[in-house]
Amino acid sequence: MDKGQRQAVNQELWDVIIVGGGPAGLTAGLYAARANLHALLVERLLPGGELLNTDIIEDYPGFISTTGRELAELMEQHATKFGLKIEQGTVQRVSRDDGGFITLTEEGPTYHSKTVILTAGGTPRKLEVPGEEELAGRGVSYCAVCDGPLFRDKEVAVIGGGDSAFQEGLYLTRHASKVHIVHRRDEFRAQPILQDKAKENEKINFVTNAVVDEIGGEKNVEWAKIRNVKDGAMQTLPLDGVFVFIGFTPNVGMFDEHLDHDEQGFLITNDRMETRVPGLYAAGDVRTQLARQITTAVGDATTAAIAAEQYIEDQAFKAQRARA
Ligand code: NAP
Repeated sequence: MDKGQRQAVNQELWDVIIVGGGPAGLTAGLYAARANLHALLVERLLPGGELLNTDIIEDYPGFISTTGRELAELMEQHATKFGLKIEQGTVQRVSRDDGGFITLTEEGPTYHSKTVILTAGGTPRKLEVPGEEELAGRGVSYCAVCDGPLFRDKEVAVIGGGDSAFQEGLYLTRHASKVHIVHRRDEFRAQPILQDKAKENEKINFVTNAVVDEIGGEKNVEWAKIRNVKDGAMQTLPLDGVFVFIGFTPNVGMFDEHLDHDEQGFLITNDRMETRVPGLYAAGDVRTQLARQITTAVGDATTAAIAAEQYIEDQAFKAQRARA
């Protein structure tokens, strides 16, 4: 898009701006565009979100086994086929403006819209131990699909006991010679099917009731200090990589007013995905909920797009009646 076209896009009044292009954002975009809403999705990187960091997907109905990248590409093609516009940009701030919303991006463009759907997902949570920040990108990683191939025949640790730790740990066994799953308890919250697969995999070793106290190495990761939380015993595990999968923090800070959220910062909506601000919706991983799956993200987003469409119609009807 050249400068002139970009300016024209900025001056338009969009029916809906969708912030974030993961499965929730692309689904909201598909539903909005198919309902003939003038819809724009703003995504920081490439559309796909967490899908792009996921290797194999086996729990999205209709796809017995697919890759995250393939599903992301199909979702993008599907939404844009029906007219969704996608712009690359990092949304910095969303504010109320003249009965609608104004969305500012770090890159400069500003978008005006009647409604906004927040689908910005989350950022991986950090261990916050010495060595983590210094060695990030030099053995400390938050994405197995991105960095796993760099660890061929090497020994790595995966920190966490949820679906991500198990799924990514299993992926890493394709490259690494040994994968230690280090978890702070001796029970895991990962789905039983993933636990079974990991327990059957000879390359996986479990280090339970254990936390990482420090990660070290000269230029790259060489070791991690692991503490047993039951008896305090310390061990230094020689490692080439540490993959951290201990959940994530929702990307919700861009709206400049208080929004209701739970104690971990996930947004609270009603069952129409409305936040406390009329016309502002939240869907997918930014929202507080029991399960964070692709299926739940697309479900939320469908509801949000339909609710946004109804809101726009109601507002138009009220404006027409006021003029009559
Ligand atoms: P999660 O389910 O929140 O699990 C985080 C794990 O990290 C837990 O085992 C937790 O331990 C541990 N943990 C948290 N803080 C820690 C700390 N400071 N130090 C050490 N360990 C810590 O996160 P997730 O695995 O990233 O999954 C996020 C959501 O995405 C979940 O709803 C998950 O089901 C979903 N997901 C689904 C799939 C799929 O295949 N369908 C794949 C990936 C993710 P405790 O158990 O002791 O709390």
